[in-house]
Amino acid sequence: MLIDDFGRKVTYLRLSVTDRCDLRCIYCMSENMTFVPRSQLLTLEELVRVGRAFIGLGVKKIRITGGEPLTRRNILSLFQALGEEPGLEELTLTTNGTLLPRFARQLRAAGVRRVNISLDTLDEERFRRFTRTGELARTLAGIDAALEAGFERVKINAVVLDGHNQDEVVRLVAFALERGMDISFIEEMPLGLMESRDREAHYCSSDRILEELQRHYTLVPTTENTGGPARYHRIAGSGTRVGFISPHSHNFCDSCNRVRLTAEGRLLLCLGQEHSMDLRRVLRANPADDEPLRRAIVAAMRQKPRGHEFDLSAPTVLLRHMNATGG
Ligand code: SAM
Ligand code: SF4
Repeated sequence: MLIDDFGRKVTYLRLSVTDRCDLRCIYCMSENMTFVPRSQLLTLEELVRVGRAFIGLGVKKIRITGGEPLTRRNILSLFQALGEEPGLEELTLTTNGTLLPRFARQLRAAGVRRVNISLDTLDEERFRRFTRTGELARTLAGIDAALEAGFERVKINAVVLDGHNQDEVVRLVAFALERGMDISFIEEMPLGLMESRDREAHYCSSDRILEELQRHYTLVPTTENTGGPARYHRIAGSGTRVGFISPHSHNFCDSCNRVRLTAEGRLLLCLGQEHSMDLRRVLRANPADDEPLRRAIVAAMRQKPRGHEFDLSAPTVLLRHMNATGG
């Protein structure tokens, strides 16, 4: 069992398998992003070792993320290996959806029951601008593929920025509702330096989104949660839940149950702080023995900070971008 110094049980690992992506979202990557050299990424075997070590220490849920996880070569083998671990209750994926037409069925067969797909806009031109390179139709095809593959839950995640897509929140909810999906709205987090944008000027609070939605839907607050920081409302008369992930307006650190592993094997103890432990060094120094790895993970819990200190009005202090953090 992993417990930190504030008595919080850590039962959830977000495992980043690459910092690369086929898109370049404006809030996630800077224009001239450089990526980790491949030799510094954990191998798939190392990722399996880490996953198993965490499961052995009581972690019940692993989310595979990145970068875009489905761009990593042979990534299915990781899902298959972790999906077979009896101690793991939930294996999930966060993806931009572009490769789901190819992978959705195999992911379902490997034991993935829930998928989060990022979609910030339903407007083609905007989608291209937000992602710098992307095509909306590819993500929409990925959503269709996920629905057809029979996942128990498909959820849309949308980062909302004022002056960019705050005028689309009702349309995005209608899109989710028509398809029986959940949707979460996320306040942008100040990770990585962004050359061309003033984050405070584009901040859009969850409360503002909720007010806008209440003009169109009856939203019933629920205490249901999916083990994460989202606060949920159910749309009356439907199965669709609308979640709000609000690091600025509703701090959720007191109930934090998670840690993140970057693609290069750095264990991050908090999304909004630099406290970390290099697990790649431990893995490579002990190729045939996982006991030192388990000891390092237990020791890292002593470093888990009480919470983040995001401040949109201050200069960005965390230079790592979301794609490197494992969003
Ligand atoms: N490529 C996958 C995707 O887009 O879903 C997985 C990785 S992505 C970094 C995970 C999530 O982080 C996405 O929903 C994305 O919108 C979100 N994200 C990226 N940068 C963010 C930021 N600065 N603040 C809040 N969320 C962010
Ligand atoms: Fe890629 Fe996801 Fe980051 Fe967009 S948010 S650039 S899809 S990793």
